[in-house]
Amino acid sequence: MSEYVIAPPAIVAVPVKGGGLFPVRRIYCVGRNYADHAREMGHDPDKEPPFFFGKPADALVTGGADMPYPSLTSDLHHEIELVVALKTGGRDLTPAEAQAAIFGYAAGIDMTRRDIQGEAKKLARPWDMAKGFDHSAPIGDIVPASKTGHPQRGAVRLSVNGEVRQDGDLSQLLWAVPDAIAFLSGFVELKPGDLIFTGTPAGVAAVTRGDRLDGEIEGVGIVTTKIV
Ligand code: MN
Repeated sequence: MSEYVIAPPAIVAVPVKGGGLFPVRRIYCVGRNYADHAREMGHDPDKEPPFFFGKPADALVTGGADMPYPSLTSDLHHEIELVVALKTGGRDLTPAEAQAAIFGYAAGIDMTRRDIQGEAKKLARPWDMAKGFDHSAPIGDIVPASKTGHPQRGAVRLSVNGEVRQDGDLSQLLWAVPDAIAFLSGFVELKPGDLIFTGTPAGVAAVTRGDRLDGEIEGVGIVTTKIV
């Protein structure tokens, strides 16, 4: 039996509304999952199957904590998203199996270095440094699906300093949550502890130090952070 040669990294966890902690394994994100956001980014939403990228689990910012403004960007954008937390997993799931794998839901913000993402798109480079940087995933408490049901409509809203910037609805998702998860499970085996950020509606825009972000997924919960 070998011992670790350094202290093992801590398990990242998100508080669950009503008590307990949800331990996080991986974070997957769905790209361009609302037609109006796909259009604002210059794409035709009718032509694309869902695609995915990732963030490291320790990019999460929980409990309404502050988010430090990241290095090497001058165009930090907010993307308010419904987040799904999985209690089971599997490969090649059907949409019904995908829905049955859901533990609960949360409101999250897919923070993005838009300038670095733009450069990456232009040069056909990976998105990791645009999307998966430290503190890039503020998230509210996870609410068990036993309390929320499986929401299919409801506001997806984000305000900056009290001014509404994004105001979409879950009913506008191009790929419904079970369908997106089913697709994802064709690429990778999903496991308990996985989180999936399901995409953002239109209205993404830049924030700066001192800004306060208030996000809400109607029927699920809120996420708040201040950029410092
Ligand atoms: Mn996003």
